[in-house]
Amino acid sequence: MKKPTLKDYAKIIRPQNFEEILILAEKLKGKSVKMVNSTAVGGGVAEMLHRVIPLFNDLGLNVTWEVIKGSGAFFNVTKAFHNALHGKNTTISKEMLKVYEQTNEENAKNMTFDEDIILIHDPQPAALISAKAKSNAKWAWRCHIDTSQPNQQVWDFLTQYIDKYDASIFSAPSFAKELPIPQYMIYPAIDPFAEKNRELSKQEVESVLSKFKIKTDKPIVTQVSRFDYLKDPIGVFETYQLVKKHYDCQFIYAGGTASDDPEGNQVLNELRDRAEGEKDFHILLLPPFSDFDINALQRASAIVLQKSLREGFGLTVTEALWKARPVIATAVGGIPLQVINNFTGILVHSVEGAAYQIRYLLNNPEVAKRLGEFGREHVREKFLLTRNIRNYLLLFLALAHPNENVIEI
Ligand code: UDP
Repeated sequence: MKKPTLKDYAKIIRPQNFEEILILAEKLKGKSVKMVNSTAVGGGVAEMLHRVIPLFNDLGLNVTWEVIKGSGAFFNVTKAFHNALHGKNTTISKEMLKVYEQTNEENAKNMTFDEDIILIHDPQPAALISAKAKSNAKWAWRCHIDTSQPNQQVWDFLTQYIDKYDASIFSAPSFAKELPIPQYMIYPAIDPFAEKNRELSKQEVESVLSKFKIKTDKPIVTQVSRFDYLKDPIGVFETYQLVKKHYDCQFIYAGGTASDDPEGNQVLNELRDRAEGEKDFHILLLPPFSDFDINALQRASAIVLQKSLREGFGLTVTEALWKARPVIATAVGGIPLQVINNFTGILVHSVEGAAYQIRYLLNNPEVAKRLGEFGREHVREKFLLTRNIRNYLLLFLALAHPNENVIEI
């Protein structure tokens, strides 16, 4: 599919919001920005950069993107950092820190930083900040990771770099940290034109159901999640058992296991054991890049469930809300930012609560429909890529006007 342009986005967001973007961009015309991350493909950050950079340039800014280079050893270190920032108990050796620093130094030597703004994404290239002394740019560090409970050793190591930036950006209030520099919050966002979210025809949705041999004779309740204890797959199954006593429906638990996650297979097997013989509890093991299938499964569902015990932002919830699905989800992580109870969905706290609310919505489809519609509007307003662009524009303006409390537009 052709890459969507500004005009395509203008058709789906409120005109006032589009106008606001144009006004902000006008103030930043000709400003140069360099984005830096550590991979050109794979992962949410690269996906987002591929989409937003052409849009920024259409808006009159001059935005470029560079990817740092590193050896396998470097990426092993940054993977360990990533896990540690998520709170995993990891030991980082002095040698590992050295590999990190040296790789960043080498990259810094081969790069220029002549732009007005340098935006560094995530920990991998964070130490490039050592080049700040020979650059006139404003530097911002964008953290896409849930850092609410980081491993202290890694966080302390990284803050020696982060403290030198002009600004930091986190994805949710609970991820914010004590830092001597200004902090901004920019929510994650989804792209309505991505394969995972684009409109699908009825035939496309049905083709996916028939591929997985799922009939449409009973309403479908779906949870899309990796096979991870924190997504509570067993809780999803127990919810199914409770609902099924009173309402003839079917559940789908669809997700993948990462090859580097030994726990994934264990969780999958445990769920398979529990659900053995249950013809209406479908466990779908999805390969990576199943965006089209995920899109169709979400659209085919009467209700989308997200029964997580802990959550980062919870993008699967955003995706389901955008598809105007009624969402029932636990009140953890970023979910309450998205699901406003009894307005854009329903928040629950237990298996019993989830089962009760599922029955309620299955019995009251007009309420379910309204929740779905409000959910879609909430995402349109707050969690689409265009909102992300607007927030970045505001950040660029703030960086261009340091020490000013009010910026005249
Ligand atoms: N996803 C996927 N394959 C899977 C499970 C999830 O592509 O097997 C997608 C899902 O649609 C969403 C993202 O991966 O876009 C998961 O993000 P979320 O914030 O919900 O949870 P995380 O997995 O990051 O904890």
